[in-house]
Amino acid sequence: MVDFVGAGPGAPDLITLRGQKKIEEADVIIYAGSLVNPALLEAAKPGCEIYDSAKMTLEEVIAVMERAEKEGRRIVRLHTGDPSVYGAIREQMAELEKRNIPYAVTPGVSSFCGAAAALEMEYTLPGVSQSVILTRMAGRTKVPEKESIESFAAHQATMVLFLSSGRIPELVERLIAGGYTADTPAALVYKATWPEERKWVCTLGTLAQTAEENGIDRTALVIVGDVVRQSGFERSKLYDGSFTTGFREGK
Ligand code: SAH
Repeated sequence: MVDFVGAGPGAPDLITLRGQKKIEEADVIIYAGSLVNPALLEAAKPGCEIYDSAKMTLEEVIAVMERAEKEGRRIVRLHTGDPSVYGAIREQMAELEKRNIPYAVTPGVSSFCGAAAALEMEYTLPGVSQSVILTRMAGRTKVPEKESIESFAAHQATMVLFLSSGRIPELVERLIAGGYTADTPAALVYKATWPEERKWVCTLGTLAQTAEENGIDRTALVIVGDVVRQSGFERSKLYDGSFTTGFREGK
């Protein structure tokens, strides 16, 4: 049995209770060493075999899983944040299916949630934006053309950009070409929830300089949109006294 577990964004106490239990029970752990906080591995049993997938290919990861499964051992595949977001889990699942190895997924706190917490930010402010676009710039992994940065920028919704902090000048250029103005508020969050977390609120016009001056080119998220300002919003209907909900009579 293979458990895909979301490790959370960095702080070791941001894993779920279920994820923590899976780590404690594992005989083999394969973790994404580039981004998973190694402190999480301290909960592993003595003698638990630990592999860093940053140094492995898909075939090597699957080979470890296949052997451990034959030995009847419990395997945890520990991914950063939530494994459904840029986690490359589907390709592993497909290989496990071919080998009839069962698996399950334990979700995690994604870094985009960790970044919002760091910024004390609500992504979906009534009257400002009610949608969050999670995306990335194309790198070695292509992004379908219909999902270009420009086309998403045209929505003027809230955008969270993963895997793009190494090329911020190009990112800014494309966001502006798509329709955001240079004075649109933007934020940069480095290593959200880690002890070394750092964060900046600026504008699209000053984002590239902010990243450059502070040497940020990896493990960061860019957040763009009017919600970053966290003002100019309307009150929610849910807690509006004159509004009747399924739980409360309006007055
Ligand atoms: N599955 C992960 C994302 C993996 S892709 C999740 O749910 O968060 C890796 C990218 O995620 C990094 O390039 C960076 O953009 C972002 N990232 C991961 N952890 C982060 C953190 N603690 N703070 C800021 N960005 C982070």
